Amino acid sequence: MNKQYLILFFLCLCNNIPVIAQRKCGFDDYRKTQIALHPELANHFAKQKASLQAIADNFTLEKNLSKANKQTSSSPAPVPVIFHIIINETQFLALGGSAGIKQRCDSQIAVLNRDYNKQNADSVNIPSSWKPFYGNVGIHFALALIDTNGNTMTTPGYDLKIITNIGFNGSTNSYSDAKHSITGGADAWDNTKYMNVWCINFADVSGLLGITVAKSFTFIGGGSTANNEQGICIAYNALGKRVLSSDSYPPGSGGITYDEGKTLTHEVGHFFEIWHVWGDDSGLCPWNGGSDDGLSDTPPQGDNTYGNPAYTITGGTLYDGCQYNATVNKQPIGIACLSYMDYTDDAGMLLFTTQQAAVMKSQVSVVGGVTGENIALVQNPGLTTIVEKPSNLNLSIYPNPTKGILNITFDTNVSNLQNIEIYNLVGQAAMSITIDSPQKSIYYIDISRLNKGIYFVNCNFANGKYIQKILLQ
Ligand SMILES: [Zn+2]
Repeated sequence: MNKQYLILFFLCLCNNIPVIAQRKCGFDDYRKTQIALHPELANHFAKQKASLQAIADNFTLEKNLSKANKQTSSSPAPVPVIFHIIINETQFLALGGSAGIKQRCDSQIAVLNRDYNKQNADSVNIPSSWKPFYGNVGIHFALALIDTNGNTMTTPGYDLKIITNIGFNGSTNSYSDAKHSITGGADAWDNTKYMNVWCINFADVSGLLGITVAKSFTFIGGGSTANNEQGICIAYNALGKRVLSSDSYPPGSGGITYDEGKTLTHEVGHFFEIWHVWGDDSGLCPWNGGSDDGLSDTPPQGDNTYGNPAYTITGGTLYDGCQYNATVNKQPIGIACLSYMDYTDDAGMLLFTTQQAAVMKSQVSVVGGVTGENIALVQNPGLTTIVEKPSNLNLSIYPNPTKGILNITFDTNVSNLQNIEIYNLVGQAAMSITIDSPQKSIYYIDISRLNKGIYFVNCNFANGKYIQKILLQ
């Protein structure tokens, strides 16, 4: 053993740092690869990070103004999620076949909804000084139930492709091959309407759990990646939350497995444009040539945190090498190692901070007149709802778009029509129309008093319903 390896060996022993199977996310490596290929992108990503604090502050300001004006904040429509599962037969069996995949998809959505809505039961482990920073993102997720052709999916929320090789190579191109059917993968579904998650085996990087292409990486977002590659790749066996002890999940160190579904919680954070809490600066502090993650409620932090660290600060977490800038303690309650955006084991991930939450929610909101880059993802509730259209129904709703008057006509027997309801984008009832007796074959509905925007007209029949999206201009 030469001297260099000897030192490394003792360092590992002394610091009790696990040397294998630590959490690894490809987000930062991919960004660095893109910058190496296109040096002008360094400025683009630096500007993106520098913009985050203002985004968080503007969101908080607007939220406080709404509260002051007693406006109720609405619950948004869920983000439709499609899991593209591309695995070989052995991996399919390891997931428990179709039943196992369904369980994983269902449990993964439950985990996302829990973690993004301040509902995680392990929040009891958040130390007292961090409780005020426990943020509620307020984004909901649901399995896509309607495919891109408008058809009801036979496999709710996922499509499955069985391949004959062991997986995909491509950490330097964000596993581009997995994202195109022509190269053996599965094409993205319209990423303005669906969040695409490819569940694959990373054949070239051992221990990689996930890698995300946010919109800021794509051409449309000022980056260099094809627009239809926006989305998330995760290790296929990191999908969902463990139910049976025999379920197969990625191994970690010291008997730990990544089996609580938080790998995707972390990657969705990147999808909505937040960075790792240490700033992806290779262990440096902001005052000695490094950087931070752009947000002030995650203290300056040197490097990532592995394992499930013991907290050493009463009411806080722990310090690292960026505690002091000269004599100023920059980590009064410790580092944000408890954020989903560090590298701890699943058990150590407990929260998004309020500013991380604000940045993410801004991507699907209109804040101060600025429309979030992914807002269309929360404008398609029909993709996560199965509509049973009565048979033989011939119904028209027009004009669409409308300036205020809607005509609803029926040219078949509509004796079972019960009522017509109009909902806004976030599922709140805007109007309800009682059906006359005897029923008419045409209804004129004046919706001009409603705010301009997208609505859903629900025609409720005794044996089903018909829903149409309309735009009020
Ligand atoms: Zn990451």
